[in-house]
This record gives sequence, C-alpha cells and structure tokens, in this order.
Amino acid sequence: MIKLTNYLCHSYGKPDSHKLSAYEAAGGYRGVRKALGMTRDQVVDEMKKAHIRGRGGAGFDCGMKWSFMPKEVKKPHYLVINADEGEPGTFKDRSIMELNPHSLVEGCIIGAYAIGAHTAYIYVRDELHLSKERLWGAIHEARAKGYLGKRPFGKDYEVEIYVHTGAGAYICGEETALLNSLEGRRGEPRLKPPFPAQYGAFGNPSTVNNVETIAIAPSVFELGGDEFSKLSSLHALNDGGARIFGVSGHVKKPGLYEAAVGLTLRELIYDLGGGILGDGQLLAVVPGGSSCPVHRPDEIVNVPSDPRFEPYNGKPFLDLPLGVDTFRGAGSMLGTCCAMVLSDKADPVLALHNVMRFYRHESCGQCTPCREGCGWIERILDKIIAGKGTIEELDQISEIASDITGNTICAFGDGAAQPALAFVRKFRQELEDYVYTGGKSQTGRLTV
Ligand code: SF4
Repeated sequence: MIKLTNYLCHSYGKPDSHKLSAYEAAGGYRGVRKALGMTRDQVVDEMKKAHIRGRGGAGFDCGMKWSFMPKEVKKPHYLVINADEGEPGTFKDRSIMELNPHSLVEGCIIGAYAIGAHTAYIYVRDELHLSKERLWGAIHEARAKGYLGKRPFGKDYEVEIYVHTGAGAYICGEETALLNSLEGRRGEPRLKPPFPAQYGAFGNPSTVNNVETIAIAPSVFELGGDEFSKLSSLHALNDGGARIFGVSGHVKKPGLYEAAVGLTLRELIYDLGGGILGDGQLLAVVPGGSSCPVHRPDEIVNVPSDPRFEPYNGKPFLDLPLGVDTFRGAGSMLGTCCAMVLSDKADPVLALHNVMRFYRHESCGQCTPCREGCGWIERILDKIIAGKGTIEELDQISEIASDITGNTICAFGDGAAQPALAFVRKFRQELEDYVYTGGKSQTGRLTV
C-alpha cells in the first residue's frame, strides 16, 4: 500500500514556499531547536536510529557517516552538501532547493553541529540558477533572524553556510571530485583511501551528504529517529523513513512523489505515474538514474540464498520494494530512486546509444578503461545504428564494459558499464536486428 508523505514537499506549489515566513508557518526550524538541545553524540545516535540511507545514490547510512568524523582531530571540520545533481532522469534535489530551501539550511545546521563543523558548503551545479538564488535568499533570511552565525537559536555553536557554484560537470557529483572542485582544482576523483572523513575539503575532516539526505534531517528530530524509521516498510532492513521518488519518461504523470520507503516500481509507474503513455506497454525501466541496470517487466526476483528475499523470491521484479539493500541484493541498484520509463514505442538501442554518449562525454579521463572504453562502446553503437555493425562488435560491447568494471578510480566507470552490460543482455534481439537488417525492423519506434 502506498503511504504518501509530506515532509519535504508540503510547500511545493504554494506561493512563497521558499521564504522563511512560509517555512516557519508550516512548522519549520523546530527540528533544529530539538537537535541543538542534545549533545553531539545524541544527535548522531538519533540520526542512526532513523536509518536514513544516503539519497544521492550510494545509499550509505547518514548517521553512520556522521559518526566516522574523528573527534580527536583538532583541525577544522566541514560539512559539504552535494547539490551537483546531474544524473539523467533525476531532478529531486533541485525541487528542494527551489521550493523548500530552508529545509536544507535547517538540515545543514543540524549536520554541522553533529559532525563538529562550523562551516557548511553547498556545492550547486552551475546550471541550477534558481536553486542558487533561493539558497542564498534562505541563508540571508536565516542569518538575519539569528539562526546562523555566532549563536544559532541561542546555542553557543557558530555555524555559517556558503553556496559554491560548480561548473556543470557530471563527475563533480562524485564526492572527491567535488572536493577538488570546491578547492579550485580540476574536478577529478581522488584515490581512496584516504576518505573525506580523514582528508576532505582543504585537507580537513569532511562529511559529504546529498541535498535530500540533509533536508530530511529536521523531520527526523521533529518526529524522533525511531518513529521516522518506522514509516518505512523496510525499516527492519535498516532502510528507514520517507523519501522523494521520481518518475520520468513514457508515463502519463511524470514527476516527484514523496512516500514512505518501500514503494514498488509497479506502484511508482502505474499508481503514481499514471501508467504508460498513450496506448503503449512497459518495455523497460531504469530504477534510479542512468547508472543503474535496465529491467524488463517480465523479470522475476531470484535470490534463494538470502532469507531476506523470501517474501519476494519468484515474484515480479516490479513488485520488489524500492530499497537500497533489496535492489542491491537482487542484482540491481536503487540509485537516486528516480525511475526512467521506456514504453514499447521506444527504441532501446537508441536509448543505450544516448546513455553511452553521455558517459563518453562526462568521463574525466584519468583512467584508461573508462576514458577509452566509453568511447569505444559509443563508436561501436554508432556503427550498429548506421547498419554497419557486426555480431563480433556487439559482443565486444560486453567485453569492454566488463573490463571497465572494477578497474577505475571512481564509481563512474562501473556506472557507465552497468547500462551497457544490462542493455546488451536484455535487448540482444533488438541490437541484432540492427546488425542483420540495418535497423529497418525498428522503424516506427520513438527516438529517445
Ligand atoms: Fe575519471 Fe572515469 Fe576514472 Fe572516474 S572512472 S576517475 S570518471 S576516468
């Protein structure tokens, strides 16, 4: 059953929802008052109880991440917000920054206090002009009211927030590339370890959190960590609370829907998204951004070795609850939880081509398998679509993608290889059609 919630989206569509007066009228800045009345350890524990899995794609537990910040290190600590939203099909963080920016400001105060930071940087993608404007507006309003600065809410704990503009590179959504860019260097991922908690912004301990992860923190403190976690039907799997689900592509009602964690893809596509556009049928769905594997509607969950999957084994993949561990365990990825839907009027070969062109363009170029491999795959697809490809070259796509996987500095390489591997495995027939008929059997399909 779908449990719609309203923790972040309550103000969407209302006039002046980005202003302090509207935010406070809706109960804003109550969670931070509770948090600042606790010790730092209590704040971290409360967040752990909520089991907020990172909303940016990696799905790491937020409270756990906060607890990794070293207390004994006497250097400045930083909270860095990853607002470099650039994953194709994902547009949830932008909505928070534009329509509910004070939730992020409030969350930043809580997060900074929890990790012992006095400065938070919000690293925003350059193209998101309204987001930057609204965030600066919210920061100025909060500062004028005394919610930021030397003594926020009367607490002797200084917090300042700065908005930093990125330059619009997808790779700067990778946390260490983001840190390099924040420091004025090239936005290239760093080798890990050391992790940001040890060596982050300007060489100091830092925590990098996604926008939605931090913006939901005030609601955790309003409700209490345990209560918030229990909203989710997956709280026993340590995947708690509510989150924003997105759906785009060939559905009747694309958009953002806030609901308790545990929604299924079928509910997202058909109940919330209104079903497939026109008279089409579902051809495929990518669960959470283009780095996730593509799925066909006839796929079955098959994880007999894991007792947690007992209720789902043998059932359609579309009925698997959207959770970090449920999807990982079933051989997929939840990613940003913003699904992209293809109808049977779409051409999956052109969809893959589009995705690989994106990855070739966005690779930072540090690692040979990623830099060269993405380009090779794109060029093979160029030939296949032109009707000049061969079956050997089609097989090479999977070989190249396998060689990229696990052999690169950052997760971008795996993220680029996943769609290639999955599309070739699941749409082999369509790719072969191009090889054998020059794509003529695909006529009439939509270009995506
Ligand atoms: Fe750059 Fe790709 Fe290597 Fe990541 S995997 S560091 S994006 S070349």
